[in-house]
Amino acid sequence: MHHKRLFIPGPTEVRPENLAALARPQIGHRSDDFRTLYRSVTGKLRRLLGTDGKVFLFTCSSTGVWEAAIRNCVARRVLCCMQGAFSDRWRSVAQANGKEADELRVDWGRAIRPETVERALATGKYDAITLVHNETATAVMNHLDEIAEVVRRYSDVTFLVDAVSSMAGARIDVDRLGIDVCLAGLQKAFALPAGLTVASVSARALDKARTIEHRGYYFDFLEMLKYDERGETPATPAIPQIWALDAQLDDVLAEGLEARFERHAMLARIVQGWARHHFAVFAEEGFESPTLTCVANTHGISVTDLNRRLGEQYAAISNGYGMLKEKTFRIAHMGDTQEWEIRGLLATIDRILGH
Ligand code: PLP
Repeated sequence: MHHKRLFIPGPTEVRPENLAALARPQIGHRSDDFRTLYRSVTGKLRRLLGTDGKVFLFTCSSTGVWEAAIRNCVARRVLCCMQGAFSDRWRSVAQANGKEADELRVDWGRAIRPETVERALATGKYDAITLVHNETATAVMNHLDEIAEVVRRYSDVTFLVDAVSSMAGARIDVDRLGIDVCLAGLQKAFALPAGLTVASVSARALDKARTIEHRGYYFDFLEMLKYDERGETPATPAIPQIWALDAQLDDVLAEGLEARFERHAMLARIVQGWARHHFAVFAEEGFESPTLTCVANTHGISVTDLNRRLGEQYAAISNGYGMLKEKTFRIAHMGDTQEWEIRGLLATIDRILGH
């Protein structure tokens, strides 16, 4: 099979060393070896996320932990910040689980503003709020610090954050920000295959879960807590992914968190500079994502054709998502992507488009 180097916003390219880590011999999930692995991984994740709270491992993609967060942490009514395909869908998950869920909606390409969050929470109607830190459909990154500052004023509101396309690519200090659940699948900025999702879960979220009935079975935080105390998961987890995560977290910490986040920011500057020169950036100014760029297709090129020609050579980018198909295209610069790879991609696109 002709491998296309992935510049799509997930799954992202996995380094051969981490692919090899997936192929380690299996171990029993009730063994000392597993408990050592579990504690190693969750300890490193706590460093990454700046938390002394719990970090759980879920064998599912991020959608499963959207559902888990809703079932365990929404008692009455949840406010869903909506600004693109993924943040919109979290509300559908809440409704599918029988929860009252209101929208706080902005146009695609725009960011969620702390003032509007403040106005909505001040109604006193909500006991939880969902926010997608980095909306992958539009490449808009919200100012999490400012929104968190507002949410912290409402001590009875549980703060549920999807950091699916930002975690491990941008700084998120869970405890300092007061985030109750912060979740991400591994196939984005962690640069690992899909199949496992990690999430921090605060003591406050666990206390709330104790008051909530029908939390479900597979994703019950209290069951996960019980097993976490032994260094295990309730059901058989995706052990290969956990091996690979352990190896990758060593590399992430060796690179240095600051250096890793700065590399993402630097790649974003390169891609966004290029996009502004030839096209335009779709995201509202000041909210451009460090992990991916959504390029507004101001010249009406055929994105499908561009991607086909890139694919014939060596790479894949993403078309616009949903209603943004052909109107935009997305280039991911997250995970382990290096400057030379991004510069090579942009040079190849320039050659194809005759820039
Ligand atoms: N949240 C965000 C921000 C995403 O980008 C995605 C997928 O791309 C999801 C959630 C859903 O992830 P999954 O399809 O892996 O469950």
